[in-house]
Amino acid sequence: MLDSAFFHRWTVAVAAAVDREADRLTELDSAIGDADHGSNLRRGFAAVVDAQGEDPPGSPGAVLGFAGRKLISTVGGASGPLYGTLLRRTGKALGETPEVSVAELAAALRAGTDAVAQLGGAAPGDKTMLDALIPAVEALETAAEKDDTKDDAAAAFRAARDAAESGALATVPLRARKGRASYLGERSVGHQDPGATSAALLFRTFAEIAE
Ligand code: ADP
Ligand code: MG
Ligand code: MG
Repeated sequence: MLDSAFFHRWTVAVAAAVDREADRLTELDSAIGDADHGSNLRRGFAAVVDAQGEDPPGSPGAVLGFAGRKLISTVGGASGPLYGTLLRRTGKALGETPEVSVAELAAALRAGTDAVAQLGGAAPGDKTMLDALIPAVEALETAAEKDDTKDDAAAAFRAARDAAESGALATVPLRARKGRASYLGERSVGHQDPGATSAALLFRTFAEIAE
């Protein structure tokens, strides 16, 4: 089972990972966007970590809801409201239960990714963060159908990470149909989507801290 301390650790580890990878994310965004994806996420997750302090609230849902609201209020770019909605909606779906299973998290993340799709109007294959998020959630759902012990939680997160990373790589040949990259039309082909890359980072971080 995953408790609020696990999700609190995740937010701190995501902030560190985003900080480490910020230059790469911004470089990807400079090819098909406005070169701010790394700095947007760095500012957002740093604000989450600052504001939440060291004591996690009592439930996973509260940790994610708080982080989502903070991202929305601190990140100006498209990714702030989109990731903010992902975490807020996922947190809301988890409710106030103090511990959640991987299966419950997978179902909540499904609600979160649906909300991202609704807010941004993007579908799979549009070369957005959804191209990493949706396969990751699917992999987590599939893995969670198996027995849900601690070891299997780690395995489930590894499967989700692998699916997210493949999904991010698979955005390279796609033509962007949403967001700034879509302004480039055909010229968006041949570049990895920055948001799909950062989405994979979220799942890589789950896999790391679940070990
Ligand atoms: P901005 O484009 O406002 O500068 P960022 O650079 O922080 O914001 O984020 C860009 C990323 O946001 C893109 O790489 C893409 O993955 C994601 N994105 C943009 N628009 C949408 C959308 N409508 N739906 C889903 N994801 C989107
Ligand atoms: Mg940008
Ligand atoms: Mg921008």
